[in-house]
Amino acid sequence: MVDTPIQRLPDEILNWQSVLTHVHTFGNSKCSGQQSLDDVVDMAFRLGFRRVMLNEHTSNPESPFQLKPYGKEVEALNRHRNRVSSTFSTLIAFGIECNTVPITSADSDGKYGVRTRFELDVPHLALARLWPKYVVGSLHGDASTYKSPHALMAAIRMLCEHPYVDTLGHITRYVSDVPVDWTEVAQMAADTGTLIELNLNQWFKECRPENQPKADDSGDVKFHRQFVEAVAGSTAQTVIGADIHNAGMWPTLEPVKGSETSVESVIAFHEFLASCGITPERVINSDLARFDNWIKATKASRSALIAR
Ligand SMILES: [Zn+2]
Ligand SMILES: [Zn+2]
Repeated sequence: MVDTPIQRLPDEILNWQSVLTHVHTFGNSKCSGQQSLDDVVDMAFRLGFRRVMLNEHTSNPESPFQLKPYGKEVEALNRHRNRVSSTFSTLIAFGIECNTVPITSADSDGKYGVRTRFELDVPHLALARLWPKYVVGSLHGDASTYKSPHALMAAIRMLCEHPYVDTLGHITRYVSDVPVDWTEVAQMAADTGTLIELNLNQWFKECRPENQPKADDSGDVKFHRQFVEAVAGSTAQTVIGADIHNAGMWPTLEPVKGSETSVESVIAFHEFLASCGITPERVINSDLARFDNWIKATKASRSALIAR
């Protein structure tokens, strides 16, 4: 539990993220959440968030596989979902972070080598059983799978066209060198009512100027800027994903031992987004009512919710 008093976050953060999305508390892989539901509710309440959207991993994010609708992984997620519902806190809701699974098959005559298409690791029947409030679809596992522009676009298209996938999760992670047209990706997301996640974890690890070889706007920062500007120039809506796995990843005004996340760095991320043309109005989780209206609507009806 938290033993120091935790202060409410400044408006420079809460005006962008009223709903904290993409929080992990569960799983049995290296990437699992390492924090309890009680601690998450306690921390979110103290910091001033109005809702926490959990996005628990489904199959193994290190090596995704297709789940069986009544298999042990889905049963464990189902029990976890019931625990979340029984916390009796309106602060927290159950969602998942699904994986794309490559399905490789040889071309009929073998002439053109192998073909790859993608499926979600959670089949429809399992999705219907789990009934997640909010679904992030992410490219996990072996990054080399997505190094071909054809495969990358096929995976992104599958996620966009999937009726349950609300959001493309950290979609540019590990693929900034793949020559796809990100403007086309942004428009595909817009056309299908799919959100584009702007992921804080990715920013901290890959894009922050201090993590770059040069302290200027170079490398992945440059790519990230081009990507966010492409999103800003489209009609796609965005969501800021915190991607918090443990107590040290929460932004707090008081230093937490071993913390990787400072309030200043989150504010710097929001300022970076603003400098690329993204305003809080384009960020669906900047406002609780806007977020709720969006995720309650079917994907096909979401274009009507976009303020033009
Ligand atoms: Zn992820
Ligand atoms: Zn995640």
